[in-house]
Amino acid sequence: MIRKTRLFTPGPTPLLPAAQFAMAAADIHHRTAEFKALYSKVLAQLKEFVGTKNDVLLMAASGTGAMEASVSNLTSPGDRVLVLSAGKFGERWTSLAKAFGCEVDVVSAPYGKTFDLEEVRAALKPDTRAVYMQATETSTAIRHSVRGVADLLKAADSDALLVVDGITGLGTTHLDVDGWGIDVVVGGSQKAVMIPPGLAYLSVSERAFTRMGTTKNPRYYFDLLKERKNALKGDSSYTPSVALIAGLGAALDYIAAQGGGNLAEGRNKLIENAETCAAMTRAGVEALGLKLFAPDAPAAAATAVIAPEGVDSGVVVKELKARFAAIITNGQGEMQGKIFRIAHLGYFDYMDTIALVGALELVAIDTLKLPGVRLGDALTAAQKVFASRRPDEAAQQLAESQSSLAPMEVTAAR
Ligand SMILES: *Cc1c(COP(=O)(O)O)cnc(C)c1O
Repeated sequence: MIRKTRLFTPGPTPLLPAAQFAMAAADIHHRTAEFKALYSKVLAQLKEFVGTKNDVLLMAASGTGAMEASVSNLTSPGDRVLVLSAGKFGERWTSLAKAFGCEVDVVSAPYGKTFDLEEVRAALKPDTRAVYMQATETSTAIRHSVRGVADLLKAADSDALLVVDGITGLGTTHLDVDGWGIDVVVGGSQKAVMIPPGLAYLSVSERAFTRMGTTKNPRYYFDLLKERKNALKGDSSYTPSVALIAGLGAALDYIAAQGGGNLAEGRNKLIENAETCAAMTRAGVEALGLKLFAPDAPAAAATAVIAPEGVDSGVVVKELKARFAAIITNGQGEMQGKIFRIAHLGYFDYMDTIALVGALELVAIDTLKLPGVRLGDALTAAQKVFASRRPDEAAQQLAESQSSLAPMEVTAAR
């Protein structure tokens, strides 16, 4: 059979065709009225997508660039910060904060777990200037309680800024940014917004902008106060990634169309979509007798699965690619060879998910030779999950049929 290559990786994720067309057509200069209009539109859309009244800034960088900006702009050498770490991306916060001379306190949880809020409360000191965490830790596929941490900071009447790496949390988990008081939320283009890597974005509270006026760490390219000043005029400080910004605009139009033209509603649909794909996958995996790596609070962004006893998880990654051209990811760092990860964030649907579950089922039977597994076991479990969520799907389809323009037509009309 022919094999269509499909990404099931938690970044980069599958590309939205409408965004690809918009990127191909984006030969405009960045110091023109045409670009300013596009840039202002996309920045306004991002606020709705993130779900905040705070300003959102865009930068030409992968997500880590905006993580770095959240450290360099918000801290001075010697500042005490608290990092909540339960995986490779949590460890990145620690490395970044140390690189900028911060005194780093760390509350950590074992890989596959989330941290204990009591430990977080105990680690919070009167002079803690900022708390850094992930919404979802992509390396282990656990979901953290951003709300729990935000509530705790409020209850402690802490001056610490709350900075959330929402790079795979945005579009897969609900964040009430202004209600909970999240000062910074970081996102990246190659995740739920369905476009290639290269753009980082972040929402920044007034409190955080004020802090930047007194912090001493060096910054030049990632100068958020400067970027904000320019963004208000529809400009970026340096040459922006014009094509990616055009693609992002088309992707946010598509997400809005999923919510009948309302972007916040569309984002909620996107979250529900990821939740459904994730629940189908988890059911399929468990029906094969495999164990989830982060069962306590599994993220909708991705599912991490423990390889069976004595089997290198790379075998599953290799077989899915060789037989079905399905690209999944191995574990990172110490988790390599022990787990494999399947993504659900962004442009994944029922067809993608059921196909991956079916392919995994064949690998489980033919390659892993898992005992007692029969053809159809994983698919049946995934189908049951989907069927149980059908009323929601039907409501979604009805809403779509009532919106005046289909997503592709919206783009063609632009
Ligand atoms: C992908 C990802 C990042 C950013 O990685 P980049 O390669 O810099 O885009 C950071 N945090 C999380 C949780 C991620 O999933």
